[in-house]
Amino acid sequence: MSTERVVIIGSGPAGWTAAIYAARANLDPLCLIGVPRSNPAPVLPGGQLMLTTEVENYPGFPEGITGPDMMEAFQKQAERFGTRINRVEVTSCDFSSRPFKLTCSDGEVVEAQSVIIATGATANWLGLDNELRLATSGGGVSACAVCDGALPVFRDKPLAVIGGGDSAMEEAAYLTKFASTVHVIHRRDAFRASKVMQARVLEADNAQVHWNKQVVDVLGDEFITGIEMEDTVTGERSTLDLSGLFVAIGHTPATGFLEGSGIALDDEGYVVLQGQSSCTNVEGVFAAGDVADSTYRQAITAAGMGCKAALDAERWLAEHA
Ligand code: NAP
Repeated sequence: MSTERVVIIGSGPAGWTAAIYAARANLDPLCLIGVPRSNPAPVLPGGQLMLTTEVENYPGFPEGITGPDMMEAFQKQAERFGTRINRVEVTSCDFSSRPFKLTCSDGEVVEAQSVIIATGATANWLGLDNELRLATSGGGVSACAVCDGALPVFRDKPLAVIGGGDSAMEEAAYLTKFASTVHVIHRRDAFRASKVMQARVLEADNAQVHWNKQVVDVLGDEFITGIEMEDTVTGERSTLDLSGLFVAIGHTPATGFLEGSGIALDDEGYVVLQGQSSCTNVEGVFAAGDVADSTYRQAITAAGMGCKAALDAERWLAEHA
């Protein structure tokens, strides 16, 4: 078995950008791009952008571009410089000695001198059939207001955000700039968000909080028309007319396969990086994108981190390989 110089795990903006840089540095990268999964919510090679309709905030695309088209372009650019692709998921990693060993879903074990982890994070969903159907078909259900909220289809319309954390507050406050009304739907009678973030919503003229409400169904055939809610105290049901729904109930980093690998994770499961670099606590293993970033979570920031990881890997290989 030959040992790869650099293996990139993941195929979102971070993974492809790392691949483009590593390929152009003649590191002959192998990209393990994952396999489609659909339980409970869809997860595709290409990551969260595969579930995004229009991307309007990525510089260089003045007319916008769809998420899948953008990921296809990233992949083509990486392949143009010789990136090799394997459609497998990494199920476990052994970083205890070099070469590192990555066990894949097809049973193969890939050996690598250096590894870039770029597996991203997935938005948490309620798990309702109509929620996931409209989220994957561009039907006005999204897990990212900053990505999708400014689209014309949501302007001056009643929108809702589900959740009571900082993300929900941030998304709701952002949407108050565009929406006629922003309904914040929370399952309890108190937000867990910081006071300063709460204030941005509670003080907005066009925001309305619905306490103790759980969404039980999303209404609409091709595009959302409303939601059905249940009061978590009384059990009473009610409907709310809406033109957009933003689910902000947290993210889960895709780091399950790192269990037992020795890679340091924070309390929420995100990879911990050393200072401003892409270095993990294991020499020769780097991380980039949402798997190591619970704060910014944008395609452009993930791509920037992928670039840093490839440059860090290149320098590290020059000294150690
Ligand atoms: P979070 O703090 O875990 O909050 C998730 C929210 O979703 C909670 O209010 C939770 O309700 C609700 N929720 C979870 N599952 C639900 C379900 N099945 N149905 C209905 N509601 C559900 O997640 P987050 O807001 O994404 O924040 C993650 C981390 O990033 C936090 O540490 C946060 O401080 C940080 N962050 C910071 C900023 C900022 O400072 N600018 C912005 C965004 C995020 P309960 O409260 O009832 O559990």
